Amino acid sequence: MERKPIIGITSSYVNHNYYMEGVYVHHDYHKAVIKAGGVPVILPIAPMDVMEEYIKQCDGFILSGGEDINPKFYNQGPHQNIGFFYTERDEFELALTKKILEQNKPLFAICRGMQLLNVALGGTLIQDIPSQTQSSFKHMQIIQRHKKSHSIIINKDSRLLKSIISQSHIEVNSLHHQAIDRLAEELFVAASSPDGLVEAVEHKSYKHLLAVQWHPESLAAENEEMLNLFRYFIDKSKK
Ligand code: MN
Repeated sequence: MERKPIIGITSSYVNHNYYMEGVYVHHDYHKAVIKAGGVPVILPIAPMDVMEEYIKQCDGFILSGGEDINPKFYNQGPHQNIGFFYTERDEFELALTKKILEQNKPLFAICRGMQLLNVALGGTLIQDIPSQTQSSFKHMQIIQRHKKSHSIIINKDSRLLKSIISQSHIEVNSLHHQAIDRLAEELFVAASSPDGLVEAVEHKSYKHLLAVQWHPESLAAENEEMLNLFRYFIDKSKK
Protein backbone atom coordinates (compact mmCIF):
# COMPACT_ATOMS: atom_id res chain seq x y z
CA MET A 1 0.00 0.00 0.00
CA GLU A 2 1.12 3.51 -0.77
CA ARG A 3 2.68 5.36 2.17
CA LYS A 4 0.65 8.32 3.44
CA PRO A 5 2.67 11.57 3.31
CA ILE A 6 3.87 13.10 6.59
CA ILE A 7 2.71 16.67 7.00
CA GLY A 8 4.55 18.88 9.47
CA ILE A 9 2.32 21.54 11.03
CA THR A 10 3.94 24.52 12.76
CA SER A 11 2.71 25.30 16.24
CA SER A 12 2.27 27.98 18.81
CA TYR A 13 2.41 27.99 22.58
CA VAL A 14 -0.43 27.96 25.06
CA ASN A 15 -0.51 28.24 28.82
CA HIS A 16 -3.61 26.33 29.85
CA ASN A 17 -2.93 26.50 33.59
CA TYR A 18 0.11 26.48 35.85
CA TYR A 19 0.97 22.82 35.23
CA MET A 20 -0.30 22.50 31.64
CA GLU A 21 1.54 24.57 29.07
CA GLY A 22 3.11 23.80 25.75
CA VAL A 23 2.61 23.26 22.04
CA TYR A 24 -0.67 24.39 20.53
CA VAL A 25 -2.31 23.73 17.15
CA HIS A 26 -6.03 24.09 16.49
CA HIS A 27 -7.40 20.57 15.92
CA ASP A 28 -9.03 21.53 12.60
CA TYR A 29 -5.55 21.46 10.98
CA HIS A 30 -4.84 17.83 11.83
CA LYS A 31 -8.44 16.79 11.16
CA ALA A 32 -8.26 18.26 7.66
CA VAL A 33 -4.87 16.64 6.97
CA ILE A 34 -6.18 13.24 8.07
CA LYS A 35 -9.38 13.64 6.06
CA ALA A 36 -7.33 14.45 2.96
CA GLY A 37 -5.12 11.38 3.40
CA GLY A 38 -2.02 12.72 5.19
CA VAL A 39 -0.33 12.00 8.50
CA PRO A 40 -0.20 15.14 10.65
CA VAL A 41 2.87 15.77 12.80
CA ILE A 42 3.05 18.82 15.01
CA LEU A 43 6.35 20.68 14.90
CA PRO A 44 7.47 22.38 18.10
CA ILE A 45 9.91 25.27 17.82
CA ALA A 46 13.35 23.66 17.71
CA PRO A 47 17.02 24.47 17.12
CA MET A 48 18.54 24.41 13.64
CA ASP A 49 19.79 20.80 13.66
CA VAL A 50 16.32 19.54 14.59
CA MET A 51 14.74 21.82 12.00
CA GLU A 52 16.95 20.14 9.39
CA GLU A 53 15.44 16.80 10.44
CA TYR A 54 11.92 18.24 10.11
CA ILE A 55 12.83 19.21 6.57
CA LYS A 56 14.23 15.78 5.76
CA GLN A 57 11.50 13.73 7.38
CA CYS A 58 8.33 15.62 6.45
CA ASP A 59 6.88 15.37 2.94
CA GLY A 60 4.94 18.63 3.14
CA PHE A 61 4.47 21.55 5.53
CA ILE A 62 1.62 23.67 6.85
CA LEU A 63 2.46 27.09 8.24
CA SER A 64 -0.46 27.42 10.65
CA GLY A 65 -2.32 30.47 11.89
CA GLY A 66 -1.75 32.35 15.12
CA GLU A 67 -0.30 35.51 16.58
CA ASP A 68 0.71 38.74 14.88
CA ILE A 69 4.26 38.83 13.53
CA ASN A 70 6.95 40.93 15.16
CA PRO A 71 7.29 43.89 12.74
CA LYS A 72 11.05 44.02 13.29
CA PHE A 73 11.24 41.21 10.73
CA TYR A 74 10.13 43.69 8.06
CA ASN A 75 12.00 46.64 9.54
CA GLN A 76 9.12 48.41 11.27
CA GLY A 77 8.42 49.30 14.87
CA PRO A 78 5.26 48.03 16.57
CA HIS A 79 2.02 49.89 15.80
CA GLN A 80 0.01 50.95 18.88
CA ASN A 81 -2.64 48.33 18.16
CA ILE A 82 -0.38 45.40 17.36
CA GLY A 83 -1.52 42.19 19.01
CA PHE A 84 0.49 39.61 20.91
CA PHE A 85 3.55 38.38 19.03
CA TYR A 86 5.89 35.53 19.73
CA THR A 87 9.32 36.35 18.38
CA GLU A 88 10.86 32.87 18.79
CA ARG A 89 8.07 31.39 16.69
CA ASP A 90 8.61 34.04 14.00
CA GLU A 91 12.36 33.34 13.90
CA PHE A 92 11.83 29.61 13.72
CA GLU A 93 9.16 29.78 11.01
CA LEU A 94 11.02 32.34 8.88
CA ALA A 95 14.07 30.04 8.83
CA LEU A 96 11.90 26.96 8.25
CA THR A 97 10.07 28.63 5.35
CA LYS A 98 13.33 29.48 3.59
CA LYS A 99 14.50 25.86 3.97
CA ILE A 100 11.18 24.48 2.68
CA LEU A 101 11.47 26.63 -0.45
CA GLU A 102 15.15 25.71 -0.91
CA GLN A 103 14.30 22.03 -0.67
CA ASN A 104 11.30 22.36 -2.99
CA LYS A 105 8.87 20.81 -0.49
CA PRO A 106 5.11 21.39 -0.81
CA LEU A 107 3.92 24.24 1.41
CA PHE A 108 0.42 25.23 2.51
CA ALA A 109 0.56 28.64 4.20
CA ILE A 110 -2.61 29.51 6.11
CA CYS A 111 -3.58 32.91 7.57
CA ARG A 112 -0.57 34.04 9.61
CA GLY A 113 1.34 31.45 7.54
CA MET A 114 0.65 33.39 4.33
CA GLN A 115 1.71 36.63 6.04
CA LEU A 116 4.87 34.97 7.31
CA LEU A 117 5.67 33.70 3.82
CA ASN A 118 5.34 37.26 2.51
CA VAL A 119 7.71 38.52 5.22
CA ALA A 120 10.17 35.66 4.56
CA LEU A 121 10.31 36.76 0.92
CA GLY A 122 10.80 40.46 1.75
CA GLY A 123 7.24 41.84 1.93
CA THR A 124 5.56 43.83 4.70
CA LEU A 125 2.29 43.63 6.65
CA ILE A 126 -0.57 45.88 7.65
CA GLN A 127 -0.08 45.67 11.41
CA ASP A 128 -3.64 46.57 12.40
CA ILE A 129 -6.37 46.32 9.75
CA PRO A 130 -9.02 48.47 11.52
CA SER A 131 -6.79 51.53 11.93
CA GLN A 132 -4.52 51.16 8.91
CA THR A 133 -7.05 50.52 6.15
CA GLN A 134 -10.27 52.10 4.92
CA SER A 135 -11.96 48.72 5.09
CA SER A 136 -15.36 48.50 6.75
CA PHE A 137 -15.10 44.68 6.88
CA LYS A 138 -14.60 42.82 10.11
CA HIS A 139 -11.74 40.50 9.18
CA MET A 140 -11.61 39.18 12.72
CA GLN A 141 -15.03 37.57 12.75
CA ILE A 142 -16.78 37.00 16.06
CA ILE A 143 -18.90 34.14 14.77
CA GLN A 144 -17.55 30.58 15.00
CA ARG A 145 -14.51 29.55 13.04
CA HIS A 146 -16.33 27.21 10.66
CA LYS A 147 -18.85 29.92 9.64
CA LYS A 148 -18.21 32.13 6.64
CA SER A 149 -18.21 35.89 6.94
CA HIS A 150 -17.07 37.61 3.73
CA SER A 151 -16.64 36.89 0.06
CA ILE A 152 -13.43 36.76 -1.94
CA ILE A 153 -12.79 37.15 -5.63
CA ILE A 154 -10.38 34.71 -7.24
CA ASN A 155 -8.14 36.44 -9.74
CA LYS A 156 -8.33 35.38 -13.32
CA ASP A 157 -4.49 35.28 -13.29
CA SER A 158 -4.53 32.64 -10.59
CA ARG A 159 -3.17 29.34 -11.82
CA LEU A 160 -3.54 27.11 -8.83
CA LEU A 161 -6.48 28.35 -6.78
CA LYS A 162 -8.60 28.72 -9.91
CA SER A 163 -7.85 25.12 -10.86
CA ILE A 164 -9.04 23.82 -7.46
CA ILE A 165 -11.98 26.13 -6.78
CA SER A 166 -14.39 26.24 -9.67
CA GLN A 167 -16.10 29.57 -8.95
CA SER A 168 -14.61 33.07 -9.12
CA HIS A 169 -16.53 34.34 -6.07
CA ILE A 170 -16.68 32.31 -2.87
CA GLU A 171 -17.52 32.93 0.77
CA VAL A 172 -14.80 32.36 3.36
CA ASN A 173 -14.24 32.66 7.09
CA SER A 174 -11.98 35.43 8.34
CA LEU A 175 -9.93 35.42 11.54
CA HIS A 176 -7.05 37.76 10.95
CA HIS A 177 -5.90 40.97 12.59
CA GLN A 178 -3.10 41.60 10.10
CA ALA A 179 -2.84 41.39 6.30
CA ILE A 180 -0.31 41.67 3.51
CA ASP A 181 0.74 45.25 2.78
CA ARG A 182 3.64 45.36 0.32
CA LEU A 183 3.67 42.06 -1.53
CA ALA A 184 7.00 40.25 -1.92
CA GLU A 185 8.28 40.48 -5.48
CA GLU A 186 8.17 36.75 -6.09
CA LEU A 187 4.48 36.53 -5.19
CA PHE A 188 1.31 37.63 -6.96
CA VAL A 189 -2.24 38.09 -5.71
CA ALA A 190 -4.47 35.08 -6.41
CA ALA A 191 -7.56 36.30 -4.54
CA SER A 192 -8.75 39.43 -2.72
CA SER A 193 -11.67 40.53 -0.61
CA PRO A 194 -14.06 43.17 -2.03
CA ASP A 195 -12.53 45.76 0.34
CA GLY A 196 -9.16 45.20 -1.30
CA LEU A 197 -7.19 42.97 1.07
CA VAL A 198 -5.03 40.12 -0.19
CA GLU A 199 -6.78 36.82 0.54
CA ALA A 200 -4.54 34.42 -1.39
CA VAL A 201 -1.16 34.54 -3.09
CA GLU A 202 0.74 32.36 -5.49
CA HIS A 203 4.44 32.25 -6.33
CA LYS A 204 5.67 33.30 -9.76
CA SER A 205 7.84 30.20 -10.15
CA TYR A 206 7.47 27.93 -7.10
CA LYS A 207 4.87 25.32 -8.01
CA HIS A 208 4.23 23.63 -4.68
CA LEU A 209 2.64 26.50 -2.82
CA LEU A 210 -0.87 27.18 -1.60
CA ALA A 211 -1.24 30.35 0.47
CA VAL A 212 -4.56 31.67 1.75
CA GLN A 213 -5.63 34.26 4.29
CA TRP A 214 -8.77 32.44 5.43
CA HIS A 215 -8.99 29.14 7.33
CA PRO A 216 -9.87 26.29 4.93
CA GLU A 217 -9.03 23.73 7.65
CA SER A 218 -12.11 24.89 9.56
CA LEU A 219 -14.36 24.65 6.50
CA ALA A 220 -13.02 21.34 5.13
CA ALA A 221 -15.34 19.15 7.21
CA GLU A 222 -18.39 20.50 5.39
CA ASN A 223 -17.07 21.96 2.16
CA GLU A 224 -15.66 19.80 -0.59
CA GLU A 225 -13.67 22.56 -2.30
CA MET A 226 -11.95 23.53 0.94
CA LEU A 227 -11.10 19.87 1.47
CA ASN A 228 -9.83 19.80 -2.12
CA LEU A 229 -7.20 22.38 -1.22
CA PHE A 230 -5.86 19.85 1.31
CA ARG A 231 -6.22 16.97 -1.14
CA TYR A 232 -4.20 18.89 -3.72
CA PHE A 233 -1.50 19.65 -1.15
CA ILE A 234 -1.38 16.07 0.20
CA ASP A 235 -1.19 14.75 -3.35
CA LYS A 236 1.80 17.02 -4.11
CA SER A 237 3.40 15.77 -0.88
CA LYS A 238 3.30 12.17 -2.17
CA LYS A 239 5.72 12.97 -4.98
MN1 MN B 1 -10.47 38.21 5.57
